[in-house]
Amino acid sequence: MAKDFHKEAIQHPIFKLIGEAADELGTDAYVIGGFVRDYFLKRGTPKDIDIVAIGSGIELAKKVASKLKGKPEISIFKNFGTAMIKHKDLELEFVGARKESYNRDSRKPMVEDGTLEDDQNRRDFTINAMALALNQSNFGELLDPFDGLADLDRQIIRTPLEPGITYSDDPLRMMRAIRFAAQLHFTIELPSLQAIAENKDRINIVSKERIVDELHKILMSSQPSLGFKLMHQTELLPLILPELTALEGIEEKEGQRHKDNFWHTLEVVDNIAETTDNLWLRWAALLHDIGKAPTKKFHKKIGWTFHAHEFVGAKMVYKLFKRLRMPLNEKMKFVQKMVLMSSRPIILSEDHVTDSAVRRLVFDAGEYVEDLMTLCEADITTKNPKKQKKYKNNFKIVRQKIVEVEERDHIRNFQPPVSGEEIMQTFNLKPSKEIGIIKDAIKEAILEGEIPNEYEAAYDFMLKKGKKMNLKVHSE
Ligand code: ATP
Ligand code: MG
Repeated sequence: MAKDFHKEAIQHPIFKLIGEAADELGTDAYVIGGFVRDYFLKRGTPKDIDIVAIGSGIELAKKVASKLKGKPEISIFKNFGTAMIKHKDLELEFVGARKESYNRDSRKPMVEDGTLEDDQNRRDFTINAMALALNQSNFGELLDPFDGLADLDRQIIRTPLEPGITYSDDPLRMMRAIRFAAQLHFTIELPSLQAIAENKDRINIVSKERIVDELHKILMSSQPSLGFKLMHQTELLPLILPELTALEGIEEKEGQRHKDNFWHTLEVVDNIAETTDNLWLRWAALLHDIGKAPTKKFHKKIGWTFHAHEFVGAKMVYKLFKRLRMPLNEKMKFVQKMVLMSSRPIILSEDHVTDSAVRRLVFDAGEYVEDLMTLCEADITTKNPKKQKKYKNNFKIVRQKIVEVEERDHIRNFQPPVSGEEIMQTFNLKPSKEIGIIKDAIKEAILEGEIPNEYEAAYDFMLKKGKKMNLKVHSE
C-alpha cells in the first residue's frame, strides 16, 4: 500500500524536536491516540499529546526536556514507565511501546516492551490507534493498521481486537466507547455493543472515580441522552445509576397514567445541555426526578402522586454521590438544592405570579435562582404546543419579576435589617426565643411585601411586634 503522509497535522515545532530527540537516541517515536483522531475530525488541536517511543518513553522525555528552552517541568512515573512534560500550554505524555496481558480480577495489565503494532493492538478503539511518525526519515507517515480513518468516516466505534476480549480485559473501555459515541455522535458497531452488554457486570472492577470521569464527559457532551440511552441499552445503567432506571415505565390505574420519568429526564438533560455548560446543573437535571420512584402512589380521587419527591430526591443525591465517591462538598449541596427546589417555579407560575411568591423564591434559592430557572425551563417537555407556550411565557414573567423584585428589595443575600443584638437591647432581653420570633416576623413581613427591606421600616415593625408581645421598651 502507498504510504500516507500528514505532515500538516504536526506542524507545531514540538513534533520536529521530539523526532530529533528520538533520532539522537536511535529510537522511533510517534504521536498517537486522541491527538491524531481529533486532527482528522477537525476537532481542533488537543493540548494533551500522547507520544509513544519504541524503547524507553522516559529516556525520550528526558532528551526532549533537555532540548527545550526554559527547563520545562518533567514528571516521571517509574512504575508505569511514563513521563510527562508540561511545556507552555501543552501536556506531553511519553510512554514506551508495550504489549499487555490481563488478569481476570484487575484492569491493570502486566506489561512488557513491544513494537508499535503491539502498542496499537492494546488501544481501545481503531480511531484511537492511529499514529503519525516523528523521526526525520518518515516524518508525518500515518500508521493505521485497523483502518481507523475509514471508521472516522463511517462514524463508527470499533475495537482493534476481538471486542469480547477488549472489554473484558479493561471494562473501563465500555464506558469510554459510550462516551466517545456521545461526544462524537458515532455509532458503536453491533459486535461491540453486544460485547458490552455481555460484559456489563465487569464494570464492578472499575474504580468509581474513573466511571464518574466518563459520566462527566457524557453529561458535558452536546446531547447527553445519546450516552445514557447506550448505557440503558447495554444495561450498564442499572449497575451505575439504578435511581434512574427505577424511573422507567408508565403505570395505568383506573384509566390514569403518569409520564415515563426516565425518558422525560433524558429530554430534560438534552434541553439543559443547550442552555448551560455548568456540569453540576446538568447533574441536577439528570437527578431532578429521582425521588419520584420511591414516592409514587395512586389515590382513587387524585390519581398519581409523588408527594415530597423533591425532598426525598435531595436525600438520595447525597447517597448517590457518596456511593460514586463524588465530592460531598458545595457542588453536592448545589445539586441537592436544585433537586429540592425543582418544582417551586412551576407551582408558582401555574397561578398568577405574585411579588411575594417571587420574593420567597429568591430568598430560598439565593444566588442560585437563575440556575433554578434554567433547570425549570429545561423541565418543560410537554408535546402540547399550547401548554408549552403557556409554561414558557410564565417562566419569562417569573424571570422578569425576579429582576424587578431584586432591584427593589435585595432579597438575594438577605441580611436581617434589624439585628438580634438590637432587638435584645431595645426590649432589654437576654438571649431567648422572643428574639427569634421577632426576627422571623420581620423577615416574613418583608417577604410578604408588608414592609420594604429597609432599616427604618423594620425598626418600626419590631416596636409594634414587641408591643403585641407585651414587651417593654427599655429606657436607659
Ligand atoms: P480525550 O483526551 O478526549 O479523552 P483520548 O483518546 O486522548 O481522548 P485519553 O484518555 O487521553 O483519551 O487516552 C489517550 C489514548 O490512550 C487513547 O486515544 C487510546 O489510544 C489510549 N487509551 C486510553 N485509555 C485506554 C484504555 N482504557 N484502553 C486502551 N487504550 C486506551
Ligand atoms: Mg487525551
